[in-house]
Amino acid sequence: MSMFSPKLSRRRFLAVGGSVAAAAALGSGLKAVKAVADVQETKKVAGVSKHIASSCEMCVNKCGLIAHVVDGRVKKLNPNPKFFKSRAMLCARGNAGAEEPYNPERLTKPLVRVGERGEGKWKEISYEEAYVLLAKKLAEHKVKNDNRNSVAFISSEGFQEEIFHYLVQSYGSTNTVRHPTLCLSSVIQGWSSVYGVYPDADIRNSKFVLMFGSNRAEAIITPDTIDFQKNKPEGQKVVYLDPRFTNMAAKADKWYPVKPGTDLAFILGVINVIITENLYDAAFVEQFCDGFADLQAMIVPYTPEWAEKECEIPAAEIRWVAKEYAKAAPAAVVYPGRRTSWYVNDVYFRRACAILTAICGCWDVPGGICPKASVPVKNLDPLFPYFEKTDDRIDQASYGSVKNRMPKDARSAALPAAEVAYMGEKDGSWLRFRDSVLAEDPYKVDALVVYKQNFIEAVPNRAKTMEMLKKIDFMAVIDIQMTEVAYFADLVIPESTYLERWDSVHNLAGIQPIATFRQPAIEPVFGTKSMFEIAGGVINEMLKLPELWDDADPEEVEDFKLDVVEDIFAQPMQEYIKRQLADQPGAYEMMMKDGVFYLKEEATYGSTRTNPEFRFKTRTGKIELANVKYAEKGLHSLPLYERPRQPEAGKYRFILGRHGYNTHTGTQNNGFLWEIQKENQLWINTEEAKKLGIATGDYVKVTSAVGEQTVMVYATEKIRRDCVFYAHGYGRLSPQLSLVYKKGASQAAILEDYIEPISGNSAMHETFVSIAKA
Ligand code: SF4
Repeated sequence: MSMFSPKLSRRRFLAVGGSVAAAAALGSGLKAVKAVADVQETKKVAGVSKHIASSCEMCVNKCGLIAHVVDGRVKKLNPNPKFFKSRAMLCARGNAGAEEPYNPERLTKPLVRVGERGEGKWKEISYEEAYVLLAKKLAEHKVKNDNRNSVAFISSEGFQEEIFHYLVQSYGSTNTVRHPTLCLSSVIQGWSSVYGVYPDADIRNSKFVLMFGSNRAEAIITPDTIDFQKNKPEGQKVVYLDPRFTNMAAKADKWYPVKPGTDLAFILGVINVIITENLYDAAFVEQFCDGFADLQAMIVPYTPEWAEKECEIPAAEIRWVAKEYAKAAPAAVVYPGRRTSWYVNDVYFRRACAILTAICGCWDVPGGICPKASVPVKNLDPLFPYFEKTDDRIDQASYGSVKNRMPKDARSAALPAAEVAYMGEKDGSWLRFRDSVLAEDPYKVDALVVYKQNFIEAVPNRAKTMEMLKKIDFMAVIDIQMTEVAYFADLVIPESTYLERWDSVHNLAGIQPIATFRQPAIEPVFGTKSMFEIAGGVINEMLKLPELWDDADPEEVEDFKLDVVEDIFAQPMQEYIKRQLADQPGAYEMMMKDGVFYLKEEATYGSTRTNPEFRFKTRTGKIELANVKYAEKGLHSLPLYERPRQPEAGKYRFILGRHGYNTHTGTQNNGFLWEIQKENQLWINTEEAKKLGIATGDYVKVTSAVGEQTVMVYATEKIRRDCVFYAHGYGRLSPQLSLVYKKGASQAAILEDYIEPISGNSAMHETFVSIAKA
């Protein structure tokens, strides 16, 4: 379907106005987007051509960009060569960002629901009316429930998330749910439980990279992606494990189609060889590590021959990996990865990865695993009042724990039976949060304020999420597009796109730390506001409602008015940026001119190894191979292995991922990107497809215990026979994402709600499905 076919929604059709005829004749999304931009003819400033340094927001990487603006309109986005982290790269998504301000379906005016929820009937209101309404609703819920935590705040990662959290703190709820509970929680917990920090991997200087399922060639994380694709050093070996032959597998020197859920068995086999054959770095272990004797005793039964039976990778290959890894050490990496929401044993698996790097001494050296450094940007850290009427988080039943979230059939001796001890205090645990809201246990949450997190499409078990929404009296959503969450909201407040607004300075910590920010390339095309302006407007309205301040110390409220309202929100964002960079002479000027601020390009290694005063942020001050705090909480201090559940005959394990041209659920309705990928397809092994009598291009029903989706088949030898896959972001429910509305299949609709019981992360590779011809 062309972007301008008769099937287009009426709103999209009207939005492109007089350009439609010409665009339809072009018949291409790429050309059509240019036509869409022509809607803004009246905004033109004749004869002006500018280049503005800012940063991309089409995914979380924040690559530096230079916006080429002609006649007041974004003409093209180019990479910023001074942003060395992205290796002078702007990916397909980054390039496609030029459409964002002109997307005909973007949100342009605040909307109040007038029909039933999800009916799509709205009344336009002004921003001022939206601020009044949101402040009034916050006050109503606080008074009605006598608990500020009856309003929960849900957000996604981004520069203005910090500002959103200023709004949260001004109101005083501690019920916040952030994106790591669907992505990074397990890897952060796993690596931090060994090193005390979540480190970076020095891919560019590494001689050996061991990577599990992080499809770096598609799930793009610059600079790693570019370093794998273009800068692979002479002699570097990359070994990649994944049930699917991804683009990353194609780039690797060796690909092992690991049996899903058994990555931990593989790495235990590797550790076994390294310890039993004395290939570890004894001097490093002696000086920096704690718990080696426990590890040495524990690892004995986990031979490569044992591991082969679990993970279906030959013992000889496991031995080869161990020896090559040890030979390359300390310039050897086990890639820490992102989106580690896979299996119920994720934290133990990530701990094992960290342990392997530690015993080989691959810490804080070129080509190894390194602590993250940062540039000196001032943390403003303003003061907020303490509010009496704030209960504990709803997803914490006792100290740091989430109880009874582990499905009975997934429990084992190797995993904690009943509790999650290390849920991120600010991140929460989405599945636990949703269950608590549904159960109204231990209290009621009946209002949500959401900043750019499309949880209807991101959180497993969409049907249950829709049930949860029935418990919600009021939901406000701040976003740039009519996501599913916005579509089912009561109040929708449009935010300016990243090319139209100022964003504060952010420190991108890592081996090569750099700070970046955003400045507007163009004026807001539809007069929309930034989160900074929205939060300031809502807080001003909140201050007019005495019932919102009666449980705080009046002196603290006065301080807050000075510190937050006057010093931050009453000033333009440029003042905020100036204050962030005030301690570094020339930093503000550098930022405005180059779009970046850094002290040096070269990495510094070794400070944690040579400083005799240095202590790791662990209980013992050492690298904890056996974790002391885990032992105290009744968890296993070492990563013990439990055989994963297996699908019964006729079923397949559903595994997730995405395509390189889309980010989560945020970019599928972009005209440029839609042109590349119009719907997703079910990867199924060719032999299994034959057995089921299906072939590429057929449509099938994919059914799990919680939902069913229809999707096109892609029969391929690039996936194991015991699992199936389709990419994230399709099968959408919002008609105002018309390019992908009901196109392809949604992951959230079929995923079951399994949870990683240490971090509280969703475990998204634990769902089994059946396949039948549609
Ligand atoms: S990786 Fe691509 S989408 Fe992400 S910030 Fe960089 S250019 Fe933008």
